[in-house]
Amino acid sequence: MSNSPTIYMDYAATTPMDKRVVDAMSPWWGDFVGNASSLQNAHGQMAKRAIDKAQNQIADAIGADKDEIIFTSGATEANNMVLLGLAEHLKSEGRTHIVTSKTEHASVLMPAMQLMRTGFDVAFSTLLPCGMADGKDVLAALNENTGLVSIQAVNNETGVINPLDEVKAGLMGTDILFHCDAAQALGKAPFNVKDTGVDFATLSAHKVYGPQGIGALYVRREVLSYLKPLVFGGGQQGGLRSGTLPTALIVGFGEACAIAVAEQSADKQRFENYHQIIRSALDKAQVTYKINGHDHGKDSTLWRVPNIMNICFEGVENEWLLEAIQGFAFSTGSACSANGNKTSHVLEAIGCTATEVNSSIRLSFGRMTTEQEIQRVATELAQVVSSLQELTQAA
Ligand code: PMP
Repeated sequence: MSNSPTIYMDYAATTPMDKRVVDAMSPWWGDFVGNASSLQNAHGQMAKRAIDKAQNQIADAIGADKDEIIFTSGATEANNMVLLGLAEHLKSEGRTHIVTSKTEHASVLMPAMQLMRTGFDVAFSTLLPCGMADGKDVLAALNENTGLVSIQAVNNETGVINPLDEVKAGLMGTDILFHCDAAQALGKAPFNVKDTGVDFATLSAHKVYGPQGIGALYVRREVLSYLKPLVFGGGQQGGLRSGTLPTALIVGFGEACAIAVAEQSADKQRFENYHQIIRSALDKAQVTYKINGHDHGKDSTLWRVPNIMNICFEGVENEWLLEAIQGFAFSTGSACSANGNKTSHVLEAIGCTATEVNSSIRLSFGRMTTEQEIQRVATELAQVVSSLQELTQAA
């Protein structure tokens, strides 16, 4: 992407597809493809074999088994599927209390609020100032009616990694179900369903250089029967999510997962370097800034993914930066919400003031970002912010 006039710095919103993913997909939409449920003919059988392979690749990426992967249209649907699909089971058990955190993605918060309208109680646990879910607060919120805990692995606005181990340890020995939205973790941070002890995990292909429009829900085999379908029809995927499986998208998702596993550690090292290049340029230009949610001292690299940087620039409104910066594309808050101007519930939840929220931007980069691009971004950002800060100080 180094020849692009505008450098793409919004990988947390969506990633470009990896060329290898496009190549793996191309026969599956370039040529005629059968229906993987139509096994009486060779076309359907071929599609089914391709889907089986991809399902194994996705399962392998998170330490699951193939039959524990349910395909959805993306992470939004997978999150809805867990919260709303468990409602009947939880109600029948009298376990209508749910614990989640204030910085979850809207696709967890909104179904949680929908459940509240139907008689569920939801506790939204608080955050540590560093942006991490407070494991102690999550566990303190549990009561004898708690049926589900839903905590994301990596936050999409700050890149902060949550202490899933602490939550897992606290849930051990209980029969409380544990869901994790791992959409931003796949390929970026270690995430294994066995290590984290989750019953459900949400994944999305377009966050990991795969195609848009496909995601998955990991469902631990032993809890599969608790989940009720939200989509009814031809009974595909064991009746849990009807609809013809999109072979090309699934093949791309599988390939993207295989590449993510192979390249995660090299990607991480490169991204750490990029992260430091940007910080050094800001330091050198004596810009006044703070990183939202990354401040963990020595251990900071353990508790954040390096490819997402949420930066607050004192005295500089992010709207001005959107106008002044021409060389690269970034976002303010979560670009994943339909209303781009909505204030960030994540930054508010970690204690940022309204002024700080309005002075914060999110930079996110990825596999296709070159060091040369990062140098250009760092230089432009440092120059623009430093002149704006000089102007506001002079005013
Ligand atoms: N969860 C998280 C943490 C996300 O970052 C996103 C995308 N911004 C979603 C869920 C929704 O993903 P999708 O676009 O695949 O529905």
